Amino acid sequence: VENERQLLSTAHAVKKAGATILRGGAFKPRTSPYEFQGLGQKGLKLLAKARRETGLAIITELLSEQHVELVAEYADIIQIGARNAQNFQLLIAAARTGKPILLKRGPSMRIEEWLLAGEYVLSNNNANLMFCERGIRTFETYTRNTLDLSAIPILKAESHCPMIIDPSQGAGRADLVASLCKGAVAMGADGLLVEVHPKPSEAWSDGVQQLTLEGFAQLMEELKPFIAAAGRE
Ligand code: PEP
Ligand code: MN
Repeated sequence: VENERQLLSTAHAVKKAGATILRGGAFKPRTSPYEFQGLGQKGLKLLAKARRETGLAIITELLSEQHVELVAEYADIIQIGARNAQNFQLLIAAARTGKPILLKRGPSMRIEEWLLAGEYVLSNNNANLMFCERGIRTFETYTRNTLDLSAIPILKAESHCPMIIDPSQGAGRADLVASLCKGAVAMGADGLLVEVHPKPSEAWSDGVQQLTLEGFAQLMEELKPFIAAAGRE
């Protein structure tokens, strides 16, 4: 979330293209403390405005226990990011809000560790857990991370929770997003989390992996036969 124009134009465009949930970061976990850290509560208010205007549900990241009440006040779904995936006290605090939780996989997390992190949500009286694969750190450098699509059938076998794929963080390259989405749908993913920006080259964060509004609409069209072949709606 950068500003009202950027967020609202994105929200309206993705809604029109068929998205059901809007993910935007108000508290951003950045590798460098000198990069854009998010707008905080101002960003949450913009997300609430986007929800009012479009009807899209809102998902946003909870970075710290310090913000749990604030984030829960605005979010329909709470994202726990890769860097906090094993921050167990944060997971417990997020679970106790009663909001659905999207738990990203940590960059070096084994599937067993991820499942157990998920248990911190489930065992704290919150059954509304989604897992989100976003790529793991390997020796490969052509991609930002290595998107582990094999996690889809494994999670499907080991857990009843929905499995979401984030190909944007997974590859770190906009040109790979469509292929990875198609593969994810074919392998049984329950949802896709795709980064979109009206002008990716001007984005304050992760511009190289973001689709344009037009690119997102085209992706949604291209996915239709794959979704039908997977027997999904
Ligand atoms: C993000 O979703 O924009 C993000 C920071 O993701 P991750 O926690 O997977 O790095
Ligand atoms: Mn991002």
